[in-house]
Amino acid sequence: MATEEKNDGQILTLENGLRVIFVKTQDVATAYVALLVDCGSLYEDARISGISHLLEHLIGEEGKTKEKRNRLLYRVERTGAEVTQCTGHQFTEFQLDTPLKKWALNLRLFLDMVAGLRCTEEDFAREQKVVLNEIEDNGGSEATYIFGLEADKRAFGQHSLGFDVIGSKNTVSSITIEMIKAWHKRFYQPQRIVLIVVGNLNLERVIRVVKKSKLYSVANRKTPIRLPPKIEPDWDAGGIIKGFDKNIVKIIFPMPSFEDEVDGALFYFVQYIFDDKSTLSLSWEVERKLGIYGGIEAEDNKTVCGCYYEVTLHASSHKLLKRLERKFFAWIDAICERGFSNDLFARIRNRRKQDINERKSREGYWWRDNHIDYIENNRLGSARLFVDINAFDKREMERVFRKYFGGKRLIFRSLKRKR
Ligand SMILES: [Zn+2]
Repeated sequence: MATEEKNDGQILTLENGLRVIFVKTQDVATAYVALLVDCGSLYEDARISGISHLLEHLIGEEGKTKEKRNRLLYRVERTGAEVTQCTGHQFTEFQLDTPLKKWALNLRLFLDMVAGLRCTEEDFAREQKVVLNEIEDNGGSEATYIFGLEADKRAFGQHSLGFDVIGSKNTVSSITIEMIKAWHKRFYQPQRIVLIVVGNLNLERVIRVVKKSKLYSVANRKTPIRLPPKIEPDWDAGGIIKGFDKNIVKIIFPMPSFEDEVDGALFYFVQYIFDDKSTLSLSWEVERKLGIYGGIEAEDNKTVCGCYYEVTLHASSHKLLKRLERKFFAWIDAICERGFSNDLFARIRNRRKQDINERKSREGYWWRDNHIDYIENNRLGSARLFVDINAFDKREMERVFRKYFGGKRLIFRSLKRKR
């Protein structure tokens, strides 16, 4: 495979197993840090669903038990930096956006924060309530979100990918502070963490700061992790999900498996078709949502559990939606039958070229997205970063399109519930 500018990111593994990805940019105002812990709802079972998310809420939570000026999060944020955190199926993520001038101090405090769990019983009880409220609130959130959860449940059943990341009222209420502490010890180990640093910085200095942090001195335990089973989506599970007023259709296509490097790399380029707005009428919105469930590499095992690619069609009325859906599938079928037109192929190439050209001006978040692809999908994801589209021929790409978009697909339709 041809590669482009490999020096866009340096990837190294420190002696304690912590992986660091460093990207040097010319930005003089801020530095950006993302820390990914291989800990998410994927590893939970039905009884403890939501534990990774509750833990994430408690990181940096030192409540009223400590004086404000001693709290790590407060010390970081008072410099004008911003910390955000979230939990997904595959990992828990902490992000730091810091003024460049204060990067070293903030990075160290940020890593100390993630390494330690300093909450008291009181803090725990308060945060548990916050999460319970969050679960309650989801009932009122956007129809597309709830619709997506319902579709996951149908497609993945009792597999943890079918659970909501934030858990349920029952499971979250039954979690104790001891369980949280054990979960933190088990998952927040250097060998399960990837640190992405983007900024106008010097790599040696970044490493020096990392080594001074508390995260660096956390011992790697050889606690066995229960790996989630491989998933077999139920391709006949599609159907109508009642109770949503929005006009939405969600289509799930299979994706190349984690091990299939060639198909995987080609698949990345084929996806550009869905980014091309000229394909379908602009008056209709096509929201593409990509779900890759390849899994981060955990120790020597790869948590391969299955993958899918998700396209959501929206329209302002049911009638328009039906037309859009027909048009969408007619278009897919036509490509499967006749292959890519020269025009379409040129557009895919241009999208790729644009992406590569704009790369230099992209922010930390852009690098994060790309590197997350790389982490989750290993070499498969590196296509996104390094591989030159000219290295592949049109026929090979058509083969991949037919294989993954022409075959089985799960289709979920939303329907207004009749009163
Ligand atoms: Zn939350």
